Amino acid sequence: GDPKLEYAEWDSRMDMMGSWFSDMKKSNRFLYERESIDGSKVVSNVIDPETKTVKEMLNFASNDYLNLTQDKRIQAKVIEAIEQYGGGAGGAPLLSGTMSIIRELQEQISSMKAMEASIVYTSGYAANIGTISGLLGHKDIAIYDMFSHASLIDGSKGSNKKFFAHNDPASLEKVLKNVQNKYINKLVVLDGVYSMDGDICNLPEILDVAHYYGAWVLVDEAHATGVIGKNGKGTIDYFGLEGKIDIITGTLSKSVGAVGGFVSASQKLINYLKYSSRSYMFSTSPYLPAVAAALEGLKLIANNQAGQDKLWNNIQYVKARLLSAGFNIGNAETAIFPIIIGDDNKVKEMTYRLHQKGIFVNPVPYPAVPRKLTRVRMTITAGFSEDQLDNALNKIEETAKELSII
Ligand code: PMP
Repeated sequence: GDPKLEYAEWDSRMDMMGSWFSDMKKSNRFLYERESIDGSKVVSNVIDPETKTVKEMLNFASNDYLNLTQDKRIQAKVIEAIEQYGGGAGGAPLLSGTMSIIRELQEQISSMKAMEASIVYTSGYAANIGTISGLLGHKDIAIYDMFSHASLIDGSKGSNKKFFAHNDPASLEKVLKNVQNKYINKLVVLDGVYSMDGDICNLPEILDVAHYYGAWVLVDEAHATGVIGKNGKGTIDYFGLEGKIDIITGTLSKSVGAVGGFVSASQKLINYLKYSSRSYMFSTSPYLPAVAAALEGLKLIANNQAGQDKLWNNIQYVKARLLSAGFNIGNAETAIFPIIIGDDNKVKEMTYRLHQKGIFVNPVPYPAVPRKLTRVRMTITAGFSEDQLDNALNKIEETAKELSII
């Protein structure tokens, strides 16, 4: 947090946020409202905040990596579930019981992740905070890769925590040595695929170090599921580490094409979480049509390598072109590409100009990332044609030259 905000009284804090927000609105012009996604699934109609007109853009800001949200087979399951269940689930699992379709989804997740058991949450955010806060007692500690997602870090609010350098087992070892005798339980936390950089975790080495020092390991597979590993099984399959990970969390809201989150682990740990994970215990079960969508999405991913292959063709195509144009894309390896610029004004201007040209990418200015790593972020999905990618990449190159970025 910003100390100016953190130590201000609530009233003035809200004023400061208010003026920051209207500055953003004026200077960034990035606060779009989306109206629809058309049949090709990679074009969004967004309402231009300046002109109030609907504008068609190629959508490079979606986590729907396999374009499943609009898939007819998923739509059919959603309609069926609405007819069968109506709206909400009516209560939390502890008091109202678990619906059988939720149990089915949990089994499907456990099978994909090769873990004994799973439970589902209303979102990936709820799964991460609920799992980590459910495990951490006063004498325990969470040790995070410093690029871990906010939902993981929020799980240890008010608890002991430390960070290690991104993807660096030697740095983790240093932290573990320092805390070794001070805490009862140690939980090492990382992302399978990092959400701002698109790189893959160094899981084999991190796991060795963590387990050597008696720590447990939690991997968040939000951006890995459906993207890496055979049949989209994720990080564990990618590295061939079945049975070695203590806890996997993830979301049903990205490649799975639905909404919701999950945690997978041993049956014993999942039983424990059912009675200690507050965002599971005290929250109504997920929306059942979304559960039906997720179940179908996971089955489609498990039985259909073609979507993943198409995604990887697109990833490799974009990566080769960005590198040959001379962009700094860090260690990007998956469907997320940072175009690292290191200059906030250029990041905002490049994003604005690309939006004007119909290319929807996101700015990631300071303080979201350190100043020298500010970037334009784009995500790739399976549904783009080569022509659409060429169109976007030509405009990205042209704009970057206008701004002397390359
Ligand atoms: N983990 C990571 C790494 C994420 O990027 C996100 C979503 N932005 C989440 C968890 C949260 O998932 P959800 O959107 O389902 O709450």
